[in-house]
Amino acid sequence: MVKVTLSNISHSYDGGKTWAVTDINLVFESGRQYALLGPSGCGKTTLLKIICGLIKPTVGKVYFEDIDVTDYPPEKRNVAIVFQFPVVYRMTVLENLMFPLLNIDIPKSEKIKKAKEVASLLKIDNLLDEPAHRLGPADRQRVAIGRALVRNVGIVLLDEPMSSIEPDRKHEIKKLLLDIGRGLKKTMVFVTHDQTEALTFGEKIAVMSPNGRLLQFGTFDEIYHRPTCEFVGFFIGFPGMNIIEARIENDIVDFGPFKMRVKKSGLSSTTARPIKVGIRPEHVKVSVEKREGYIPFKVAYVEDLGRGRSVIHLQNENVFIKAMYENELHVGTNVWINLPEEYINFFNEKGERIG
Ligand code: ATP
Repeated sequence: MVKVTLSNISHSYDGGKTWAVTDINLVFESGRQYALLGPSGCGKTTLLKIICGLIKPTVGKVYFEDIDVTDYPPEKRNVAIVFQFPVVYRMTVLENLMFPLLNIDIPKSEKIKKAKEVASLLKIDNLLDEPAHRLGPADRQRVAIGRALVRNVGIVLLDEPMSSIEPDRKHEIKKLLLDIGRGLKKTMVFVTHDQTEALTFGEKIAVMSPNGRLLQFGTFDEIYHRPTCEFVGFFIGFPGMNIIEARIENDIVDFGPFKMRVKKSGLSSTTARPIKVGIRPEHVKVSVEKREGYIPFKVAYVEDLGRGRSVIHLQNENVFIKAMYENELHVGTNVWINLPEEYINFFNEKGERIG
């Protein structure tokens, strides 16, 4: 397994007119598992192709350990990729698993042994004589993962590997990938636009912006509790973080229809300045009775999540806030809310974290 470093990577497909990814710096430590998360078109696949050598970045360097591999072709990098649509050859499962060993100088019996070991790991040892292309998507993906693992590669790249799997078998593949990553200590990078997949799989998650920049690289806790910017706050979560425009002056946050005193250091400003307040819907406290320190709101809309849970959309003049609620509430009901300071995030006008 290798440590992979992306250093100041930018890539343009059209000679510099537009940039698919810009100024990416990332280190994937050996034997750890990572997720690359971002909306469609943010450059996730471009980064995978840069790691495996299918694309040479317009700017920047790729290192495997301390070796600059930027000019190395894919076959010199010892990387395996698992794609969204499982790629299998029109051969038996065993022959598929042995295929990556074709040019390796070891006896055929050794190749069969390695292929069978991987088949057992992936629980497809009962399918070894089956034609791989006739299997369902989940089993075909197992074969494709097996082909990625049969060689002793330095890093395994997974490009949305679960998106074409039968819904009722996704959990199997998820568990399998987790077991392989954590159990066998493989360096793995898992690309997805699905935050649940990213949070389950990645020990650390790289969150990308729609225009191909790295916004945050951290653990789930860091990304959830201390997003570096408004986009990450909003992109992560079901639903995403509330972002409310306000002004701050002398530790008083002025939302317009109501004010709130905060104690956060470093934010006090003697002249009023615009600020964005971020708080997750699950951290907003809701009361159906008037309470000290709570602000009056009205229920504008109720989004039923089933099992008695809902997202309630609340309004006080021009301020809209979403909150989670466990009991039944009707549109038009008066409620009182509290925004606990320990859960409040502050962003500047540009959406960058300031507290
Ligand atoms: P998705 O989740 O939809 O697969 P992604 O995050 O993997 O998207 P990329 O496929 O890397 O994003 O694309 C990043 C940007 O580069 C997009 O604007 C895309 O249109 C552009 N792009 C990707 N491949 C090419 C190509 N071969 N030629 C020109 N532009 C490309």
